[in-house]
Amino acid sequence: MTCLTCRNWSIASLCGACAARLEATPDRTVDGVRVVAGLEHRGPGRILVHRLKYEAMLEAARVLGPIVSRQIDYRVDAVTYVPRVLARRWKYGIDQSRELARVIAGELAVPMIRTLEPPWWSPPSAGAPAASRRPPGFSIRNRSPMPAGRLLIVDDVLTTGATLRGAAQKLREGFLIDVRLAVATSATEVTSLRSRR
Ligand SMILES: [Zn+2]
Repeated sequence: MTCLTCRNWSIASLCGACAARLEATPDRTVDGVRVVAGLEHRGPGRILVHRLKYEAMLEAARVLGPIVSRQIDYRVDAVTYVPRVLARRWKYGIDQSRELARVIAGELAVPMIRTLEPPWWSPPSAGAPAASRRPPGFSIRNRSPMPAGRLLIVDDVLTTGATLRGAAQKLREGFLIDVRLAVATSATEVTSLRSRR
């Protein structure tokens, strides 16, 4: 097989050299809630996310998911995710955070539930200046099972936290839940000092 990130021949999903270059990243907080972050959004960690979200390579979720779930040191009752804007889900053929949530829920042996509907479109946030980022307008999904207890919300990349904050606020409005947060990668370098806290 080939390595998911460098594409050289490898006996595992990641070759030894790329696996050794994966960087841990500190947890951050969004609205006072700790965000468990799998990897720094740099080097092979960043490429893994891109393989998943732009190339629909599910194997990348199977590598990233356990890296995140191993750091969840508390009990959760269910896992949900920040859905991808529909126009981009169609363009790339994948909702990357849903795939991550599926793997993480499996690792934690709890249900993965769909709770939020994404908007049709929103301006791409990747690369946008932090000040101009607004969370997409999520809505509560009709007929979603009623979550209760501790709900882990999974997203792919944490930058300013605006998207995760918007999703958490919408879910808190809709359900009586204790929100927990996790992301595959965290981009600490591109965030402002204010949003790092
Ligand atoms: Zn490699």
